[in-house]
Amino acid sequence: MQVYHGKSVFGGIAIGRILVYGREEKPVKPEKTKDAKAEMLRYRKAAQTALKQLDGLYQKALQEAGEDGAAIFEIHRMMLEDNAYGESVENIIYGQQVKAEYAVARTGEHFARMFADMEDAYMRERAADVKDISERLLAILGGEGEKGIRTKEPVILLAEDLSPSETVRLDKEMILSFVTARGSLNSHTAILARTMGIPALVDTGLPLDGKLDGMLGIVDGLAGVIYIDPDEETLTGMGKALEQEKEKAKLLQTLKGRENVTLDGQSILLYANIGNIGDLAAALQNDAGGIGLLRSEFIYLERDRFPTEEEQFRIYRTVAETMGKKPVIIRTLDIGADKQCDYFGMEKEGNPALGCRAIRICLTRPDIFRTQLRALFRASVYGEISIMYPMITSVKEICRIRKIVEEVKEELNARGVAYGNPGQGIMIETPAAALISDLLAREVDFFSIGTNDLTQYLLAADRQNRAVDEFYDSHHPAVLRLIQMVVENAHQAGIRVGICGELGADPGLTREFLAMGVDELSVSPGRILPLRRIILETDVSEYRKMRQKEWQPPVYMETQECHRSNSICRQGPEEGDTFPAGRSTGDEYLA
Ligand code: PEP
Ligand code: MG
Repeated sequence: MQVYHGKSVFGGIAIGRILVYGREEKPVKPEKTKDAKAEMLRYRKAAQTALKQLDGLYQKALQEAGEDGAAIFEIHRMMLEDNAYGESVENIIYGQQVKAEYAVARTGEHFARMFADMEDAYMRERAADVKDISERLLAILGGEGEKGIRTKEPVILLAEDLSPSETVRLDKEMILSFVTARGSLNSHTAILARTMGIPALVDTGLPLDGKLDGMLGIVDGLAGVIYIDPDEETLTGMGKALEQEKEKAKLLQTLKGRENVTLDGQSILLYANIGNIGDLAAALQNDAGGIGLLRSEFIYLERDRFPTEEEQFRIYRTVAETMGKKPVIIRTLDIGADKQCDYFGMEKEGNPALGCRAIRICLTRPDIFRTQLRALFRASVYGEISIMYPMITSVKEICRIRKIVEEVKEELNARGVAYGNPGQGIMIETPAAALISDLLAREVDFFSIGTNDLTQYLLAADRQNRAVDEFYDSHHPAVLRLIQMVVENAHQAGIRVGICGELGADPGLTREFLAMGVDELSVSPGRILPLRRIILETDVSEYRKMRQKEWQPPVYMETQECHRSNSICRQGPEEGDTFPAGRSTGDEYLA
């Protein structure tokens, strides 16, 4: 038996076969050949197989996602059939007397670079497509099957590390648990594992070895341990623990349908964080009162090209309709930092967490933003959708968003397309936003505090860097003081405030958040019922009395009268409104 310890991302026990997940990116060496003709033949055969695969994928996507969804495979087919690609491969094989693999890899690189350097945004996106084609050809030439995990039964997935885009593409039904050798607790991959509610560990230092493939494994998520090839005693003990866990989960189910009200009558909303439609079932099964955060960027990460307005509209509409009268907060795309999407064609940044991410992409590349906003406004006819903007740092940004929103509405009017009147709010996840939350509160309908980023920016501790995990302390008084301050500023302005960062699910802080007056906690679906149990057992007034004064709320700036008439997100004109003339331009806040 081998035992490895890691950091626990999500509790629970998984017992099953191990599958080692390897990245396909291997540098291809310029291997020489004496038979260039035979290599050319190998290439032609591989290209035929790739075309067949693409046809199959096209048909599957056509059925599952319609013509828009299938179009990408048609583009890949056209690129592969294009003479220039084949001619480049041929030149390299004959010119350098090398194997087909090297010629394909070089051609892929040349073409990708050529597309990436193009002026036109659409053409720039094709860089990722051409890379994808080359990877497909390399996999075929190397005798590998299609990318992704190949398994008939659910497995414990072992990987060096997983990027968010790799994670979203995995077939979730087939994964019992994630275990990575590296990785940080606060990464989006960890967050995805929590959303899926499966036991997961990171930073185990486990040596990834193909020999582990198919061996029996046990993951104890809470204890942060993976047992490989367990002995009889461990297997029996963990088998019993798994049964007990199932019993506990059943008991929690009895809390379904109960209100989230404390013993002394204080209510709080418990919503779910999700990444896509696939997570809706878990949200409903766990009795979520709504969706507090739909991380829409996962819709982008799952694809090799921008999702169209229609595709996005269908997804948002499905979420809204499925949730019925329950609120659904959809966050506009938060691409950037660890959530990289090749087809965005972004410059490589030295410090991406401080770079062009989230709202900064939307404001500098408004076409991408407009497409998403059109889809969101249209879908808001079908349910209780609100829109939330990430990574806000200033009022000025809200003014720029407001302008784009107005243009989007005009576009929809011109097209004669119906749209709703979604609420609009912002994430408070930068220290700047928290510190001016009194000013921001006048401009929006609601706040949701993103403690994951707030902690990283406030404590100068990269959430991706496992070496600083111990310094990334979201219980730091600075974080808690800021949360308290944001809650007070929101309430002064008469807007509601939630927490959608991972800290919201921390059972050690539930009573604290109740005492602060937080209106809503949005957490991974599997955390809802455990939090409900704590809420039902809490007497907030008693807790306030006993609360140890470990940290003191700061002396806040005088909050001013609410300026709701300046809001970007009114539910309709209010008496005394001077819209649009009375709206803030943001300039008054510029120093
Ligand atoms: C956060 O930063 O707390 C948050 C909810 O957003 P994300 O984790 O997606 O950056
Ligand atoms: Mg964030």
